[in-house]
Amino acid sequence: MKVVVVGTGYVGLVSGACLADWGHEVVCVDTNAERCAAIGQGRAPFFEPGLDALIQRTAGAGRLTGTTDLAQAMRGADLSMIAVGTPSVRGHIDLSAVTAAAAQIGALLPTLDRYHTVILKSTCVPGTTDGVLLPALQAASGLPADRFGLCVNPEFLREGSALADFRNSDRVVIGACDDRAAEPVERLYAPLACPKLRTSPRNAEMIKYASNSLLATLISFSNEIAALCEAVPGLDERTIMQGLHLDRRLSRIDATGQPLTADIVSYLRAGIGYGGSCLPKDTAALQGFARDQGVPTPILDAVITTNARRADALVALISKLLPDLARTRIAVLGLAFKANTDDVRVSPGLRVAEALCRHGSAVTVWDPMVSDLDLPSTMAPARLMPTLAAAIDGADAAVIATAWPQITDTDWTGLIGGMRHPILVDGRHAIDPARLPDGAIYVPVGRKPAGTTAHGIARPGI
Ligand code: NAD
Repeated sequence: MKVVVVGTGYVGLVSGACLADWGHEVVCVDTNAERCAAIGQGRAPFFEPGLDALIQRTAGAGRLTGTTDLAQAMRGADLSMIAVGTPSVRGHIDLSAVTAAAAQIGALLPTLDRYHTVILKSTCVPGTTDGVLLPALQAASGLPADRFGLCVNPEFLREGSALADFRNSDRVVIGACDDRAAEPVERLYAPLACPKLRTSPRNAEMIKYASNSLLATLISFSNEIAALCEAVPGLDERTIMQGLHLDRRLSRIDATGQPLTADIVSYLRAGIGYGGSCLPKDTAALQGFARDQGVPTPILDAVITTNARRADALVALISKLLPDLARTRIAVLGLAFKANTDDVRVSPGLRVAEALCRHGSAVTVWDPMVSDLDLPSTMAPARLMPTLAAAIDGADAAVIATAWPQITDTDWTGLIGGMRHPILVDGRHAIDPARLPDGAIYVPVGRKPAGTTAHGIARPGI
């Protein structure tokens, strides 16, 4: 089939390249000409493992192209997929990019020589497809609803493992207005053996929010347990969660008696909070949507509040060791919201750096994928350093904010020697303390630092 993907971001480009790899003819359209040009040059305009090679292969075979010209792209297309951003603005979803894309596609529907289905891939609150998208398509096309197809097909891929997630999808959700619209979407995903759930557009929209809200809930639950452990001596969140993971409803015991943990267990771990372009905005959008319906969301409210507290909780942990934060220099290592991506949207590392700046610390930051970051104004006092060593040289403490292997697997022996105080605060439980040199002070989240007094850490030399 010929598929036009509108919005060439993490979801649109990964979906487009994978669909082209399955043999479909895919045209990626974006208002950002640089993104389109990158496809033509056989490279990804952002970092996602494996994407460069996939684009090179599919673009080289002539099955994947990029353009800013939607009209040209739509000629002879069977399907168009809207994959533009849906940010949360002041607690409500901003649908302006979706409605703009719908109006542009709608205007071209009467020119097509075949039945065409529009797929909404972007994450949108329930009612968007029938209440916003359908009227926008009808108004722009002048066509009745039965002359074209409309489906919701939410995406569940994760940045950092997006290609594998798309190719090994655990489900395909198709929220269709009617069977005629759904059938070509089901054919599009024919190479996937996973369950294909057909439902209404509203259910499909809500499935994505329920899914992301559950993941956010697990993270905040773990962080709430961690906050308690950080306050009470002798409690260790890591061990407590280990005990929880061994529940056979989370870890099946194999024939040799070894636990096989379910992937979802990775969300039951403390850290410095969830970030990125999905969980924060989707929980906020669902909260705003529920508020508009007059439906209270006490669990979601608490999930969001707990998450917002994590940066300050980490600063509180550091101040137990170094009470006079205004006289410290702290290195924050990792600005991408998680490893294996260059995405710094709603990054916990940035939040921690900002919180430290507010407390008067001199802050240096480093990330292997973020070289020319446009630091937000609240981060102005923080200095982006060219190397890990430069960031931590002379620092009083280093905070691990992203579990990049370049950070966690580094040889800390030489690096720690250059610090003013050898304090490593592990916001991701990413380091094996046994690999640290003697004298290093390892402070993971979810534990009250040992030996701290009201005046800071009671260690000789500090
Ligand atoms: P993104 O910000 O990376 O990319 C969006 C792209 O759309 C940009 O390149 C932008 O220039 C383009 N665009 C905006 N308006 C356009 C228009 N009218 N015509 C053509 N292009 C236009 O977004 P993303 O992270 O890929 O997310 C897209 C959607 O998918 C969002 O709704 C998001 O919630 C959802 N989603 C994202 C992820 C993820 O991990 N990023 C996972 C699942 C679902």
